Amino acid sequence: MTSPTLQKAVRWHPPAYDIRVEAIAIPQIQNSDEAIVKVKLGALCGSDLHVYRGNGGVDKVHTCGHEFIGEVIALGSSYGNNARGRPALYSNLKVGDKVVSPFTVNCGECDVCRLGYTGRCPKGALFGSPALEGGQAQYVRVPKAGGTLFNLSDPSTWSSSLPIDVKEKALSKLADSSLLLLADILPTGVFAAMQAINHPKVAPVLTGRPWPLCFSPSTDTGNEVSFNAEDRIFTVAVIGLGPVGVCATVAMLDVLASKQIPFRIVSIDPLESRREKMKAVYAAIDEAGKGGGQFAVCSIDESKEKIKEWTSGIGATAVLEVVGNTSALSLAYDLVRAFGVITSVGVHGKTPFPLTGGQCYDKNVSLDFGRCPARAMFPPAFDLLVKRQDVFGGVGQPASLVDRVVAIDQAPEMYRAFDKGEVGKVIFDPWK
Ligand SMILES: [Zn+2]
Ligand SMILES: [Zn+2]
Repeated sequence: MTSPTLQKAVRWHPPAYDIRVEAIAIPQIQNSDEAIVKVKLGALCGSDLHVYRGNGGVDKVHTCGHEFIGEVIALGSSYGNNARGRPALYSNLKVGDKVVSPFTVNCGECDVCRLGYTGRCPKGALFGSPALEGGQAQYVRVPKAGGTLFNLSDPSTWSSSLPIDVKEKALSKLADSSLLLLADILPTGVFAAMQAINHPKVAPVLTGRPWPLCFSPSTDTGNEVSFNAEDRIFTVAVIGLGPVGVCATVAMLDVLASKQIPFRIVSIDPLESRREKMKAVYAAIDEAGKGGGQFAVCSIDESKEKIKEWTSGIGATAVLEVVGNTSALSLAYDLVRAFGVITSVGVHGKTPFPLTGGQCYDKNVSLDFGRCPARAMFPPAFDLLVKRQDVFGGVGQPASLVDRVVAIDQAPEMYRAFDKGEVGKVIFDPWK
């Protein structure tokens, strides 16, 4: 019997709204640093819709999908004993290992990757783009796999705040549909929250000391007027409650609750179904996870009133913009306080920037933009995944991020329904 040479793959065809499940060649190793992964599950993501709608500036037929989990079935000649001085996976990744991939390839070896900015590796590429075939298929080729993949079969190969035995026990219990969230949406949500909480502009709120003494090692508060309790409340708006926005909200809630920072969070979306999902997710989180802060879910207009009411018109300490369009960015500007922080992780297109230099000057606003370095963000995202299985563990429940797992043949219909907001996050099983 000869081994099969063709596989099923979800393919995008120009100009727009044309998704087909086709038989194409199974990928082969082309370069010594590569791996071939047999995909167990591949997910559909909000950012797939940019290309689907014809807004991606793309005209090449290609296999879709940048979120996948699977098993290594072939490795290039770089793997093995002679890999000293290279990322650890070149030494210890084996055929048969279970892996999850971040949504971009990165080498793990250049000056960009060494600093943890893995989403912008010069050798990188986005899965499911004209540059690199995607993971909504039975097999996927992973360039620079030793710098890119996470070896779920060997948890000693990545850092974690969890002890190794807890990590191993967690891994044995986590469903593939849950681990798949590590490919993009969970690290991206954690990244949005982490950028806000670690921004220097928020230091006065966190330390209770005014700018710039908040950075001084002395304890001098230097001000004849002391902070009041209200000044210490970290107020956050999250714009956009697709799966990433929900992850960003949960991540923000987790960091504020676990550090016992007084907070208020408003999560915002124009779609009622998305607001209901966010409410169900919040309800599923235990009391310790909710912390002592206030939480609200609002429409756009309600959010403006809510921030005004909460902050006496001052504005939010930070805004997480998880949509990627000009109206979301304009809303972020409206909601943020002077000396506030906007962290934007939505995929913005070519539309002109909706803010003027004057507007940015007038509010001393800090804008933090761009793609999550998912490879670097994996450890905190994994820890949150383990902690919040009440939200990230299920499929199809009111509080689940994953709406359904379907056969890959349903991809054209699922793209259509996802584009219309009729379904939540969908995962394809390419073997069903
Ligand atoms: Zn994604
Ligand atoms: Zn690199």
